[in-house]
Amino acid sequence: MDFSFTEEQKNKRQEFFKVCAELAKDRMRGFEGFESSYDTDEGWKYHLYCAKEFARRGWLSLAWPEEYGGSGNMMDRVLFAEARGYHGVPGVDVFGVQMLAPTILACGSEEIKREFLPKIATGEIQFCELWSEPNAGSDLASLTTTAIKQGNEYVINGQKIWTTGAHRAHWSFGVYKDDLGGKPHHNMVFLLFDMKTPGVTIRPIKYIHNMHIYNEVFLDNVRVPAKVVGQEHEGWAVVNTLAAFERSNIDDIMRMQRDIEHVVAYCNTTKQDGVPLARNPVIRNRLAKIAGEVEAARMLAYRVADLQNRGELTLMEAGAVKIFESELLERFASLMTDVLGPYGQVKMSRWSPMDGWWERIYQEHFVQSISMGTNEIQRNLIAWRGLELPRMK
Ligand SMILES: Cc1cc2nc3c(=O)[nH]c(=O)nc-3n(C[C@H](O)[C@H](O)[C@H](O)COP(=O)(O)OP(=O)(O)OC[C@H]3O[C@@H](n4cnc5c(N)ncnc54)[C@H](O)[C@@H]3O)c2cc1C
Repeated sequence: MDFSFTEEQKNKRQEFFKVCAELAKDRMRGFEGFESSYDTDEGWKYHLYCAKEFARRGWLSLAWPEEYGGSGNMMDRVLFAEARGYHGVPGVDVFGVQMLAPTILACGSEEIKREFLPKIATGEIQFCELWSEPNAGSDLASLTTTAIKQGNEYVINGQKIWTTGAHRAHWSFGVYKDDLGGKPHHNMVFLLFDMKTPGVTIRPIKYIHNMHIYNEVFLDNVRVPAKVVGQEHEGWAVVNTLAAFERSNIDDIMRMQRDIEHVVAYCNTTKQDGVPLARNPVIRNRLAKIAGEVEAARMLAYRVADLQNRGELTLMEAGAVKIFESELLERFASLMTDVLGPYGQVKMSRWSPMDGWWERIYQEHFVQSISMGTNEIQRNLIAWRGLELPRMK
């Protein structure tokens, strides 16, 4: 496969990088990418500001059909994500722009498309994902939160958990049981609703480093209009469609690319026993290996984009890049605890090397192998659906 860029792609890539570099000048200390924006009011304002800047350039609707205001293709989206990842800027709602919009395009009614796509493209509404429940994560189909239809409305009761950004999002997409006596996988509805609806209670789950990103969401007699994506009772099919639109993880990969540049600069200028760390053969060797793996991850992500562009992406390819990228981040974070030594564990202070960045990454890195379907589940999918290996009885 030839991944060399056309002249047009090179120009677009340059434009994406230029705009993101400009926006990165307003980035607060310790702020990194999309998830940081949920923690503070200042971060959320910055995210919305970046979203508006991208929206006015038409970058939140890349790869959509022209009739819904779209332009460009999947490769443009990848190049744009590279720029955001490299410069650590937010502005793209992972849930609304990257997951829900393509799902609505694939299985939403015309009414749902006309109502929600323009608001996603302008950054006017931001979404969260109400899927996981205390007893339904990997086995999502065993969820118990109900949405019972009454006239033109649904009444929702139950609890969701680990909801990223629920405290900031304007709207949610979620999946609920809508037919209590129905056949498994044909008894769920995929619903959109306003998070300010009475009966929605949001409680924070503070993360290991005390940031407020995740939440529990309690739904008590929440009465919402029937904004259904797909068909009633057939929400599971929509869940599967959305799962195939998960991101290529290229932004995380580009963040690692940038981190390698920073680590190399650090090793060139930091001495141990009078010798720069960059002269240490063990460090050189381990860092070179990571750098090679980051490049391999980038190629895998390009491949995912190319397959998605051609409508040939399967859960196997998407799962492979997710596993590789998340486990690479773990290896990189482990390497950096060795390189930085005990000072590397000092939280942001003047004594913490590299601005305390690796102390935070080491604490955060493992979430990647859990969120968006654990790596074990991804491996199962690759084995069963991709390689057609038999299931254990
Ligand atoms: C950072 C982060 C953000 C998240 N954001 C959201 C969000 O915004 N919205 C949302 O709805 N959810 C979100 N989640 C939830 C996430 O989707 C679930 O945590 C994930 O699906 C795993 O479910 P669980 O936590 O219930 O673990 P479990 O399903 O209980 O799994 C526990 C362990 O058992 C393993 N396991 C389970 N079943 C099998 C099997 N059949 N074969 C092999 N191993 C198995 C798993 O791999 C895991 O290691 C988020 C999670 C994290 C960590």
